[in-house]
This record gives sequence, structure tokens and C-alpha cells, in this order.
Amino acid sequence: MKRTTLFLIASLLVPFAYGQEPILLEEYTPKSIYKIPVTKVEKAKYPVIDAHSHDYPTSREDVAQWVKTMDSKGIEKTVILTGYTGASFDSIVEVYAPYKDRFDLWCGLDLSDYGKPTFVETAVNELIRCHAKGAKGVGEVTDKGLGVYVAFQTNMAKGVHLNDPLMSPIYETCAKLGMPLNIHVAEPYWMYLPDDKYNDGLMNGRVWKIDKSIPGMQTHEQLIAQFEEAVKNHPNTLFVACHFINCSYDLSITGGLLDKYPNLYVDISARFGETGSIPRYMKKFYTRYADRILYGTDNGMSAEMYEVTFRILETDDEHFYIPNFQYHWNLSGFDLPDEVLRKVYRENFLRIMK
Ligand SMILES: [Zn+2]
Repeated sequence: MKRTTLFLIASLLVPFAYGQEPILLEEYTPKSIYKIPVTKVEKAKYPVIDAHSHDYPTSREDVAQWVKTMDSKGIEKTVILTGYTGASFDSIVEVYAPYKDRFDLWCGLDLSDYGKPTFVETAVNELIRCHAKGAKGVGEVTDKGLGVYVAFQTNMAKGVHLNDPLMSPIYETCAKLGMPLNIHVAEPYWMYLPDDKYNDGLMNGRVWKIDKSIPGMQTHEQLIAQFEEAVKNHPNTLFVACHFINCSYDLSITGGLLDKYPNLYVDISARFGETGSIPRYMKKFYTRYADRILYGTDNGMSAEMYEVTFRILETDDEHFYIPNFQYHWNLSGFDLPDEVLRKVYRENFLRIMK
């Protein structure tokens, strides 16, 4: 990442600031000085299913350690969006086999025949094969503007967006096999906005920035519209749009789509920072859509990571910063009601996976 040229000038009103250096915005990590309640939530209030994680462990010992962390934090099960197909998927099934009821493995899509007439057939056959091997769903299927790919994989169906007729047989196969798709569409909105001092998400936007100069790059609005068309045209397919459909800047879009399409769910993974800055709005949103929201993390396997998410969902703590959480906003908890927590943490997932 190139260093930001924006400076936060300390002591602007002091003409001679005792030799104080300007502070780089990206290095600004304030600590709250408020003497207000700080709640440490060591374990989730109710059993949790994490609907959005990845294959982070690099050894079988890592997997065993992860299970221990899950036990101590109250995570009953973790969905691993492996992205794998073929031999990679088969070998990952072996790795997690000792903990069958603690992990659900979702497979990827075989896009290797992109550009050939066999594209659809290859993708569909591999879905059927992975399902027989134990895949419970598909993900993370991604389109950030240039075409469909699967997170962490290199093959991309360039120019094929989520509403492309080529995707239809894939969605229909998922419906037949009872496999939901976890879909990542677009990116948070500030990544599309000018990279200037007014950008509310600048620190994240710089890391994940959308390069609008690439030919064929779709706008945020186009991507959401394409996704909506896919959901609408495949009412028997279950779509879990991760990260609130990347509309945390305007959750009326997310809510509007949830209102229209009963086959659509959202996961909350990797948007705790974005939403932790608007806690009262979020409490209303979670309460209104309590049946359609799934807990997810998408952020490694550490005990601290889980604790932060519980603190945001369960407590009414205010104005806290999380070191290394990759956000620059101060966060506040949502203080969600118990019945909302139970649904988001676990019950919705169990219902849709029946
Ligand atoms: Zn993810």
C-alpha cells in the first residue's frame, strides 16, 4: 500500500508546535480515554454457528487448536468456504474428517473450461461430484466487477457476471442438490469513491480499492442489479450474500432485497467495523431482519477475534477501538435482544440447511 499523503495535523492552532511531527492518518490509533463500562465477552451468550470462514489452518495441529478455540468461545460449528474443487476438495475433506460435526465444508466452482463450450457441463459435473464427497454448499462465489470467480482461486470467468445465462444451470444444480451459494458481490461503497480526504472508508478503501480504469469494470450499482436478477430468476436456489451484500453504507438496499426475495439471506462477516459505527441503526436492522441474517466472521481463528464480534453484537459498550482490526472508526455495541441473538447465531442457519 502506498503511504497516504493525508496528514492529521496535531496542534493546528499552535503556531510553533514544539517540533511535533505531522501524524500519518494511517498510523493514527487512538486509545479511548473514557471511563465507561468495558465488557469482556469471553464466550458467546448462546451457541454459535459461524457461517463464513475459510481454510486457515496450515496443519492438522492447527485444526485441533481451532476446535479448542471454538469450544472455549461457544462456536458449535464453522462453515469453511473452501473454494476448492477436484483433488484439493477431496484432500480437505480428509483434513477435517476427524471433526465432521464441527465443520461444514463448502466447495468452489470449477471454472477451468471458461471460454470453451464445455464450461457449464464441467462446472455442473464437478458440483455434483463435490456434493457426493460431502460439500454442503458453494462459496465464496465472487464478482467484484470483472467477472465471476471463487475467492482464493485463480480461474475467472471474465465478463461473466452473476446474472449471465451461463450461471443459470449452476444455480439450478445447487437448488436440486440443496446447496446454498455464498455470494460476494461488489465491495464496500467507499472503495468506488474518490480517494480523497472526504472518503469515510479511506483506510480500508486504499487496501481493497476498486480500479475503475480497468476495461469492463462494473459499477457497484450494476453488480447489485446483476445479483438481484440472479436471485429473482432462481427462486428455488438459496443465496447467502456475504457482508450484508456489501451495502452497509445503505442498508435499505439490503433490506429491500430481503423483503422482495425469500430465497435470500445475508451474512454479517467482515463488516463489524463498518456497522459498529452505527449501533442504534444496526439494532433496528437486526431486529427487523432477525430471520434472515447469519453470523459469520471471515477473519481468522483467534480467540480475540471471536470476542470482538460478541462484544459488538451483545453489549452496549461504546467508543472502543480494536487494535489490528483494520478499521479506523471507533465502535459501539448493538445490545441485541436475546431472541435476535439466538436466530442470528444459530437458528437461521439450522433452518436453511435442513
Ligand atoms: Zn470470505
